Amino acid sequence: MSGTHRTGGVRGRIDTAISRLRNPAYTGANRCLPCTGVNLGLTAAAAVAVGLVSPPTGALVGAGGLLTTWLRGYVVPGTPAFTKRYLPDSVLAWFDKAPTGDALGGIDPEAYLRAAGAVTDGQDGDLALTPATRVALIDGVAALDSDERLARALAETLALDPDDVTVQPEGVGYSARVGGQPAGRWESRVALATDLAAHELFADRVGGWRALPADTRASLLGALRLSLDTCPACDGDVTLGSDTAESCCRSYEVLVAACESCNSRLFEIDAAIAGGEAGA
Ligand SMILES: [Zn+2]
Repeated sequence: MSGTHRTGGVRGRIDTAISRLRNPAYTGANRCLPCTGVNLGLTAAAAVAVGLVSPPTGALVGAGGLLTTWLRGYVVPGTPAFTKRYLPDSVLAWFDKAPTGDALGGIDPEAYLRAAGAVTDGQDGDLALTPATRVALIDGVAALDSDERLARALAETLALDPDDVTVQPEGVGYSARVGGQPAGRWESRVALATDLAAHELFADRVGGWRALPADTRASLLGALRLSLDTCPACDGDVTLGSDTAESCCRSYEVLVAACESCNSRLFEIDAAIAGGEAGA
């Protein structure tokens, strides 16, 4: 009751200590499953080896390794490089794919976006935004002209306290944090602003939009970005290319849709996943 920054009691002090020890780059949403797996295996091997000599010390080694992996993401310095080198790419690709799952929950994104009036057939045979959607996105992105506005709109989208949400550049992309913890990453500032503008448009005009699970909405917004042939920020042409991306422990080919004028990345997908979906 005394102050907003006091989290009284032992539990509060433990939470504070843990958040100070945690390495957000390798834990929480950013935890790398292959690296965690390798470290748990190394921890078990070390605990057994030491335990053969001294069972109590072996138990301590095991407990220490588990705690460190939980807090820091890995025990052994350099594990990401080690994992990249020794785990086969097929295994790593599976780990990278696993968390994405089928966020669409059986929804066909093209059919959904057509029914919502957001996309239609373009002149070149590809999907294209409807003129009304294109104008709404240009206006919506223009209105999100500061990081504070982006953060406030993101908080509204996710029904969170605006004071808890921040956004900032991260590498070539843009990331969001909630309560200081990593909570999402977009291909660029324009990609994030486009998602937020499209969310507002759909929330106004598409019945049932707000009732969809958050990851389903995120996948549909991604599908809409893939349909952009001009940039919502500068009206430049969007072209498709490929690039090599680095995750924590592997490098892989990605397909990239980017604006030729402002170079903003509007959509990025693992080429292996894109190929797999095309073949399915
Ligand atoms: Zn642009």
